[in-house]
Amino acid sequence: MPVHDSTYSRRSVLRLGALAAGATAGAVALAGSGAAAAPSAAAPAAFVPAAPPVSRGFLRSLDRSVTLDGWTAEPFPMSDVSLAPSVATRSQDQMLHLARVYPVDRVLAVFRRNAGLDTKGASAPGGWEGFGHANEQPWGPDDYPGRANTQTANLLRGHYGGHFLSMVSLAYASTGETVFRDKVDQIVAGLGEVQTALAATGRFSHPGFLAAYGEWQFSQLEKYAPYGEIWAPYYTCHKIMAGLVEAHRLAGSDQALEIATSMAAWVHSRLSVLPQAQLDRMWGIYIAGEYGGMNEVLADIASVTGDDTFVGTARLFDLNTLVDASAAGTDTLNGKHANQHIPQFPGYLKVHDLTGEERYLRAVENFWGMVVPGRTYAHGGHGEGELFGPPNTVAGDIGARNAETCGTYNMLKLGRLLFFHTLDPKYMEFYERGLLNHIVGSKKNTQSDTNPDVTYMYGVNPGTRREYGNTGTCCGGTGLENHVKYRDSVYFRAVDGSALYVNLYLASTLTWEEKGFEVVQETQYPKVGASRLTVNGSGQLDLRLRVPGWVRKGFTVRVNGAVQELDAVPGTYATVSRSWSPGDVVEIDMPLSIRAVPTIDNPAVQSIENGPTVLLARSASREYLKLSLYAHVGLDGTLDGAFTDLGDGYFRLGSTTFEPAWSGDDTQYHMYVERSEPRVVFAGLDSGVTNAQRPNGTSFLDVVWGDGGFADRAAFLAKVQRTVEQFTADGLLSRRDGQKVLVTAGKARLA
Ligand SMILES: [Zn+2]
Repeated sequence: MPVHDSTYSRRSVLRLGALAAGATAGAVALAGSGAAAAPSAAAPAAFVPAAPPVSRGFLRSLDRSVTLDGWTAEPFPMSDVSLAPSVATRSQDQMLHLARVYPVDRVLAVFRRNAGLDTKGASAPGGWEGFGHANEQPWGPDDYPGRANTQTANLLRGHYGGHFLSMVSLAYASTGETVFRDKVDQIVAGLGEVQTALAATGRFSHPGFLAAYGEWQFSQLEKYAPYGEIWAPYYTCHKIMAGLVEAHRLAGSDQALEIATSMAAWVHSRLSVLPQAQLDRMWGIYIAGEYGGMNEVLADIASVTGDDTFVGTARLFDLNTLVDASAAGTDTLNGKHANQHIPQFPGYLKVHDLTGEERYLRAVENFWGMVVPGRTYAHGGHGEGELFGPPNTVAGDIGARNAETCGTYNMLKLGRLLFFHTLDPKYMEFYERGLLNHIVGSKKNTQSDTNPDVTYMYGVNPGTRREYGNTGTCCGGTGLENHVKYRDSVYFRAVDGSALYVNLYLASTLTWEEKGFEVVQETQYPKVGASRLTVNGSGQLDLRLRVPGWVRKGFTVRVNGAVQELDAVPGTYATVSRSWSPGDVVEIDMPLSIRAVPTIDNPAVQSIENGPTVLLARSASREYLKLSLYAHVGLDGTLDGAFTDLGDGYFRLGSTTFEPAWSGDDTQYHMYVERSEPRVVFAGLDSGVTNAQRPNGTSFLDVVWGDGGFADRAAFLAKVQRTVEQFTADGLLSRRDGQKVLVTAGKARLA
């Protein structure tokens, strides 16, 4: 079917009145009964791709992405975008290597063991993805093996295999390498065999059941078993189903959709008979009730199959207390497990798209506003010890283990979907921050045949270290996906085809077939603040260029050398509207600048940022580094003159080296420094006057420089004068000291 046909309206084909909670999905065929050929028994351990990549046109023909009602912008198929070398392709290429060489039999081993099938001698991936207790495997829904035997450490098994299937599906759509298509087919066929074998035992409640552990975890959850007795059974279920849907959507596997749809029917049969109050209580249980994005994948299955029963199934996962509170704008997040709840929101958004129910959309938008910016660290992460802290608290929530990488993976997913709805630039502003810093930087700069080498926590406390590794953990799983899908958000298009959104400045080529346009983007961003687009196409098109919020020194656009008069406000999109001719060249100049960015709750705790890049101060000290930066601020409000450029994104200030957050280095670092500004100093000239503070911690110099810089010296002096008057009036500065400050400002030679 025409996969990107925006006239395909899902809402119009749904009959919402039919969504009775008790409706069954029994008509769904058991997948795998006519299973395709079994995976090769001799899946190679180290695969050297021999066949050339398939063509972009062929990949495109497989893509079955769906644009939902309510979207005014949409992504391009991944096969329409190719990436040229950048900081992101460093991480991508290292992960693609793992995807190529990692054996499929290892991915399938935990599933095969559970179904009593031959594991072909393969070991489980390891970490959380292990075989578990030898006696536990066959237990059905009516069994409970007892706390001593449940072996929590492996009760999430199967989740990593689901992510791996997503990874090779994304990798295939990105590169066209047949090694990835082969792996998709082998994993899907293997899962089909497992589903069939489980059904043949007659032990489980429905032939669609597919897991790498017994069904008892699900029935125990219905009895409110806590984390420790079970883990998070629907979390794992989501990862497997999402992998299958990606295999269908991106690699054209019909069998994958059959298996996933059959699983969805099993989920429906379990949950549709439960009272709403029981469901509400289940989904609120810490960790055990964590279900990832079950509602999202069920909404996807409803979209792809046109079977609206599954919209009803998706709604069985509503955590009504959270949806209602969020829709009302009531912040109830403090103390909640962040990554338990974030992935529910893309699901609520898609359920909104399929039902038109506004409550969901309000909940999602309000939820976003509770996390960004008030709970968001400089690199885009959030949370301490996996929990949300109080509202508008960043510095105050810095602790031993901040910023689980899964959380940022899911916030990026959510922000992207919200942009499709609202076109609000704030979502893509966050996207750049989280993607370039947390995500690219979550991949250690190394290549491995077995270990994803990605972060769990990408911490923010003084002297911390990135928690690299993570074979088999949640972040190891989302990490598999993160690094093979960079191309999916560089460009979006208006659903009506009238505009092209350039969201990310990453070296790449876009082929927009329907419009007859090709755009070649050449840039060294984020190392250099410039990009050059060659537009090969004819006719009218609005080119919407994202003006990053960090821009301080102007955003200049030239078309074929001529400067354009644009409304280029930082944090928005600037539009170049014209009738294009092949070979038109758009040059974007957005000089980088180094700034100190205060946290929302403590102006003294600041990150140092160069353009979009967060700079990490290398130091093993566990105390905040104290820096006096105002002495170095230039008239333009930047710190450019203070830092020595070491090249490749690295800088030095005094004896401290700063590395870019996307480096993948393995050092001890400080994402935040503590500003130590005891006296009022301008351009190195010390007034001798104490830098007085307001009760909220905002200092005299914070106020002077709070607007980010000045157009000229007169504006600077006027601001100093106004600030002296305010602080004097408030009794924070004596008249005599105020005079000294004014004299010093007058003498200072600000660059
Ligand atoms: Zn995680």
